[in-house]
Amino acid sequence: LEDGKVSVTRAAGSVTFPAEFMLVAAANPCPCGYLGDPKRECKCSPRMIMKYHSKLSGPLMDRIDLHISVPMIEPDKLAIFEHKPSESSEAIRKRVMAARSIQSKRFKKAGIFSNSGMKNKHIKEFCNIDKEAFLLLKQAVNNYGLSARTYFRLIKVSQTIADLAGDTGIKQNHVAEALQYRIREQE
Ligand SMILES: [Zn+2]
Repeated sequence: LEDGKVSVTRAAGSVTFPAEFMLVAAANPCPCGYLGDPKRECKCSPRMIMKYHSKLSGPLMDRIDLHISVPMIEPDKLAIFEHKPSESSEAIRKRVMAARSIQSKRFKKAGIFSNSGMKNKHIKEFCNIDKEAFLLLKQAVNNYGLSARTYFRLIKVSQTIADLAGDTGIKQNHVAEALQYRIREQE
């Protein structure tokens, strides 16, 4: 199974189709759901939590770029109609469109459409990582024992963060943000 392709295997044989998709998934932090909750106590044993997490395989988790903890929201804070977001959806949409347009220009001749479609050779060709950013990336790989796959995915996410910020190259703060989305794996 490669990025941009999906294979279907049946008794009659195996077929590969082109596919572009985004996987979004959610899971509880533990079987009871209260692990890390400031108000309610988690009743699960460490063994139960480990068993629960082991159901999601490492290679699958490795392919999910952004891991985010979503804490429980208190009922009185659920008054969504009074809530004023710091950045409106319309403003975010504009930033995303701008980032997509940077990417389609960047990859015009490479036959790909977005940062996530980059193969390793594209990363070498198109990503401009400054010295400090590269150092941070190297440190993270050594400290957390990250796989080569995670390393390259981190660069791609960093490039997207840089594009969203309107920066031309990958800087240390972009790598730092990309690493944040991987922290859950290391817990
Ligand atoms: Zn629990």
